[in-house]
Amino acid sequence: MWLWETLVGLIVWTAKGIAEHATTTRFLASFGFFLLVVLAQRVAGRLVGYVAWTRALLKSAAASLGIALLNFSVYPTLLAMTSHGVERLWLFLRVPRLPASTWQGLPLWLVALIVVVAYDFADYWNHRLMHSKWVWPIHAIHHSDPVITPLATHRVHPFEGLVMWTSYFVLLGWLNLPQGTLGIGAVILLLHNEYVHMNVDWNHGPLWFLVASPRFHRWHHADVPQAHGKNLANVFPAFDLLFGTYYNPGPCTERVGAEGVPENDVVKLMLFPFVAWAKLAGAWTSRLRSRFRRTGDPGSTPGP
Ligand SMILES: [Zn+2]
Ligand SMILES: [Zn+2]
Repeated sequence: MWLWETLVGLIVWTAKGIAEHATTTRFLASFGFFLLVVLAQRVAGRLVGYVAWTRALLKSAAASLGIALLNFSVYPTLLAMTSHGVERLWLFLRVPRLPASTWQGLPLWLVALIVVVAYDFADYWNHRLMHSKWVWPIHAIHHSDPVITPLATHRVHPFEGLVMWTSYFVLLGWLNLPQGTLGIGAVILLLHNEYVHMNVDWNHGPLWFLVASPRFHRWHHADVPQAHGKNLANVFPAFDLLFGTYYNPGPCTERVGAEGVPENDVVKLMLFPFVAWAKLAGAWTSRLRSRFRRTGDPGSTPGP
């Protein structure tokens, strides 16, 4: 009953929220922001000398931009929905949180560092989950980009936000970290995420293990079996070293992208999870059916 009420509540809330947030102003504001990102990327590209404005890059950037605009209009609702859902879960499970006083008296930089480490720990595990069979169809949209640029940061299916934020609300909610530093941490994460999607072969020299580099993350996007599901941390490669998913054999010249996933068609990308799940469910039910048929087959029963 509790679950049913929560589900109905969430659906009604989502519908209302989308209606409230999907305003022209929001779209215009998002579009303005992304023009700035594109411009900044162009200037940065000139500075490091990597951006060639090829047709492939423009197509990729346009698709990422379209997805980002869509996300900007639905994120506030999805975020509120996740926060509400996890809050209700905490209340239901009656899990005690760390007291807010735990963080009092600590210097701001230390709390901010703890926030970033906590975010990244949550990201490592939600990312690992997103590379599993049934959740991959959501995350495949991020991997669909055939040309990696900072805009790829925003090329994610809206459902990916649900997975990410749930992990944040569960872990960071339990840690009860101060709101202000959570905001600082989120900005650091976003900027760093844009940085690792730059199309450059930087590896941070002897400090390669300290903070994730563009080369580290490019290997994550490489469409070769040995790199699949590797380099899952956003900021700290230490998590990959610790949990056995680190992969960085040198400069990455492999093709980036994801086999079988549309490249730049925004509508197809948004529908991709549903299509992939339908295929997975079809394969699963036919496997189940053939197993039942085998066990029900008199010829397969052992003789006396
Ligand atoms: Zn990934
Ligand atoms: Zn990426």
